Amino acid sequence: MAEVNGLALRGEVLSPGEAGYDEARKVWNGMFDRRPGLIARCTGAADVIAAVNYAREHKLLVAVRGGGHSFPGYSVCDGGLMIDLAPMKSIRVDSASRTARAEPGVLWGELDAEAEAFGLATTGGMISHTGIAGLTLGGGFGWLCRTHGLVVDNLLSCDVVTADGRLIHASASENAELFWGLRGGGGNFGIVTSFEYRLHELGPILGGIIAFPLPQAPQVLGGVDALMRESPDDFIAGAFILTTPDGHQAVGVAPGYFGGDATEGERCIDACRKLGTPVFEQIGRMPYTALQKLFDGAAVPQRRYYMRSNFMNELTEAASTTLATAYEHSPSPFNAVVLFPFGGAASRVPADATAFFYRDVRFSMTLLGCWEDPKDDAANMSWLRETWDQLQPHVAEGVYVNELFDEGAERVRSAYGPAFARLQALKRQYDPTNVFHLNQNIQP
Ligand SMILES: Cc1cc2nc3c(=O)[nH]c(=O)nc-3n(C[C@H](O)[C@H](O)[C@H](O)COP(=O)(O)OP(=O)(O)OC[C@H]3O[C@@H](n4cnc5c(N)ncnc54)[C@H](O)[C@@H]3O)c2cc1C
Repeated sequence: MAEVNGLALRGEVLSPGEAGYDEARKVWNGMFDRRPGLIARCTGAADVIAAVNYAREHKLLVAVRGGGHSFPGYSVCDGGLMIDLAPMKSIRVDSASRTARAEPGVLWGELDAEAEAFGLATTGGMISHTGIAGLTLGGGFGWLCRTHGLVVDNLLSCDVVTADGRLIHASASENAELFWGLRGGGGNFGIVTSFEYRLHELGPILGGIIAFPLPQAPQVLGGVDALMRESPDDFIAGAFILTTPDGHQAVGVAPGYFGGDATEGERCIDACRKLGTPVFEQIGRMPYTALQKLFDGAAVPQRRYYMRSNFMNELTEAASTTLATAYEHSPSPFNAVVLFPFGGAASRVPADATAFFYRDVRFSMTLLGCWEDPKDDAANMSWLRETWDQLQPHVAEGVYVNELFDEGAERVRSAYGPAFARLQALKRQYDPTNVFHLNQNIQP
């Protein structure tokens, strides 16, 4: 047992200056160099209960860290208590029932590897070092979401430590309203100490990336839009505007085929090639875990990141031209535009079945700013905000809650959409004093 200032845990309790403190307070976004008063390195639900009780009794600011990938750096705080779940790494796959239980310090690459050993997988984030916890609680999209739905559509149950320090179970049959809210309402209602997921059979997949010259963006993005209207659920094609490692601005298409019909898979991929004149192609059959790591190099931890996001329903010529023209003036080669398609199984879940309301949107559009030197902050942030302003005539209502920066109450409301009032009632029930407010906050 470790005890510091009256906080006793099975895991470590770290104070400023102590060995391990600086490593533990590091989060993915290098913009946030914050110093918690204490870091509770939890090893299980008992530690989480102790940390929550301690924070509440001492009226401390609380930051909750799963994988540490919050874009706005909400998983670390200045002063207060950082409840660090990173040491909670257990994963158990039950191949007979096709389910997996995972603790909140698990990263997607770790869960994918355990599931793949049994020929199984579930929808998960597209960068292997992102945490399962924060991503799941926001809704969660990934390669498999047209085939098997969003991450929350595959969530079967959770164990949750509530603001009053109780551990409760939430599922479709137990605390069902809380379970509804956990599937899209973020970290507002408590700290999840265990996630149970449904898994699906999945063998090697066909996918990769095809790049085209940037001036072809309108025809390529318009083509992706058309393809996603007519393709089977087993096929997805994400789109990007980016700078290649050798310095060329390009529009990229990232196709993935997850069905069993190899001819159909080849046909889908070939349709992507024909969207323009490819200048680069890396397509092949690979394990799902390899696909899940394909873009890790574009999200290097501790670089400086900033973002704006929206849903879009159409990749029109005007919208694509706006994005491509703005990208020509991007101040950093690491900046990117990411267009992730929804549809398929994710769109067939009723809007009120989970707290992720926006079931009929067609794309999530993210302007992702990324650079290395703090002296480039101003140039990149203003480029990004100007590009976002220019794009506003072309976007749809709403935004994905996990792709919000620190953008104010109105944007938070628009992320929860019509689910907001129901979520607020749940917040009043489970966290009436707003212990958990370092998040896209629903005020009780
Ligand atoms: C490189 C990168 C790639 C991404 N790719 C995708 C993607 O493919 N699909 C997608 O949907 N999203 C994606 N996202 C967004 C992602 O969903 C969010 O950043 C998410 O918050 C990350 O979860 P985390 O556990 O790593 O983050 P953390 O920073 O640890 O947590 C984020 C927030 O979640 C809450 N939280 C964390 N753990 C718990 C818990 N156990 N209980 C209760 N609340 C908790 C807290 O409020 C915390 O502030 C990506 C983000 C990044 C940075």
